[in-house]
Amino acid sequence: MSIIFKTQHAPKFKNYLTLFLILMLSLSCTERSEIPADLILTNGEVYTMEEDQPWASSIVITDNKITAVLNEDESIDFWKGDHTRVVDLNGKFVVPGFIDGHVHFRGAGGFINGANLLKVSEEKGLQAEIERVVNILEDGEWITGGLWGAYEQWASGASASEEKKKDVWKPTRWMIDDVSANNPTLLNNYNRQIYLANTAALKAAGLEDANLSGMEKDAQGRVTGLIYRDSPALEKLRAVVKPKSHKRLLDENRAALKALSESGIVEIHDIVTPEQTDRFVELHDNGELTTRVWLRPDLSRAPEMKENGFSMGLHPVTKEPNSWVRYGAFKGYIDGIMGNHGALFFEPYDDQPDNYGRYRQHTSDDPNLLEPNMDKMYNWIKIGYEAGFVSNVHAIGTKGVSLMLDTYERLMNDLGRDLEGFRIIHNQVIRPEDFPRFQKLNVIAEVNPYHLSDDMRWMEERIGYERSKGAYAFKSLLDNNVTLSFASDWPGTMAAEYHMHPKYLIHAAVNRTTVNGTPDGGWFQEQKISVHEALKAYTINNAYAAFEDDIRGSIKAGKLADIAVCDLNLIKIDPSDILNMNIEMTIVDGKVVFERNND
Ligand SMILES: [Zn+2]
Repeated sequence: MSIIFKTQHAPKFKNYLTLFLILMLSLSCTERSEIPADLILTNGEVYTMEEDQPWASSIVITDNKITAVLNEDESIDFWKGDHTRVVDLNGKFVVPGFIDGHVHFRGAGGFINGANLLKVSEEKGLQAEIERVVNILEDGEWITGGLWGAYEQWASGASASEEKKKDVWKPTRWMIDDVSANNPTLLNNYNRQIYLANTAALKAAGLEDANLSGMEKDAQGRVTGLIYRDSPALEKLRAVVKPKSHKRLLDENRAALKALSESGIVEIHDIVTPEQTDRFVELHDNGELTTRVWLRPDLSRAPEMKENGFSMGLHPVTKEPNSWVRYGAFKGYIDGIMGNHGALFFEPYDDQPDNYGRYRQHTSDDPNLLEPNMDKMYNWIKIGYEAGFVSNVHAIGTKGVSLMLDTYERLMNDLGRDLEGFRIIHNQVIRPEDFPRFQKLNVIAEVNPYHLSDDMRWMEERIGYERSKGAYAFKSLLDNNVTLSFASDWPGTMAAEYHMHPKYLIHAAVNRTTVNGTPDGGWFQEQKISVHEALKAYTINNAYAAFEDDIRGSIKAGKLADIAVCDLNLIKIDPSDILNMNIEMTIVDGKVVFERNND
């Protein structure tokens, strides 16, 4: 062994000498960087989101940072070393990686690896979706949830007769038994009034031939698998559902991470539970995390988090600053959602004349959530602030938003400073007089443009034309100098599915139409904003919203290398083509985490 070692060593040394001489010679001709780049993206149309160099051609990346941003007439040679990967972008469009200001990560992964039946209201669709999920899961794993019929319900709308509404689609176990023999299944419809158990699930609960109340039977007296809520039968079934294993939950996380990387998203602001926080830490420790995570724990945890010495920007275990996994703002809720007439309004819903919406547990002690207790929320926000956290609070209806502005105003007066970094989340419908109040407080409006592509189906039916003028009013917010933060709310609610791919949000904000391009010219088209404004709300503004716009959110030397490459130049194409855009490459912390295979 030693002989071989020696004979190999000698010539190698010689090679180094030669290399050194060549290097010396070449240095005398062209200067080279002492530390060569790891990755160079060149020949692209780079939209930097930096005012003093809005467009560039090449990005030089060394380790996890951008080391240079070069114009077309500047050579990359200075940065190129023997091990530098050079990617010729062939004119592709490059932006700072997208930052999604609002996701429900755990639920999103659950929807990818589990049943998503929001749009399903017939046998074939149900079967196909259950078959898809069975192929992902191991035998014996339960399939639950699904939320079938949501879109069927909303499509019928308030104008549909009560008769038609009662006549909703009711699946039976026989529709899915063939495809789910080895996976006990307990699905529910969108508002959790009815459930469907397959034969494997009924067997597990000893209900196959049972005669318990809450179980539907067909004309021949056979158990159909349809079970009604609040029934002894449902309780029996629930008791035997096998909880998801740790491995299954991690697999769901992995599926969600993959989907994010494929969509050019480099960071999420996640509405997070303590259990999911642990999984983020585990994935990060394993080197599997491909998206930065800004964790938003529930506002009610403020006292506990303060006591345990946590603060914004700190890793949940080490309590050290960390750019991958760290606590962000507290997430609060003031009112319900439009999807179930729960958002708070000053005037009642047009289609439910007695209903003004509801408070939430953060803002009410009333079991019916009709009486407010704003002090409850205020105190948590203040405790959070004392621990070094800002709050981001959900407010959807005009009254929800207005009450939130009141609450923040009280806080600003108490603290004697503006509320930089505090957010109002959703802001779906705003009264004209409330728009200017955001800037006075310096709060951010976190908005969900894609919701409008979906919600416009029933918006005017529920709140009428006048109030709809202030719905998703992004242009009015911009005109009032409000910082916009774009957020998907992925994967959605029991009423709607919300896309996370940035093209959907940009399309909705710029065109204000459904994905099918209706209505012509856009819904309340005076509220359209530009692609530039949309990109800003998706990149640098969201870095600012996490107090990190100094280290990321734009393409600038010295910043973290978080980058998305798109196949279409969103600034130059016709806005009607935005939905045709695909992500070609996603880079997070200098590493390529997704690359489209175009072969
Ligand atoms: Zn949400």
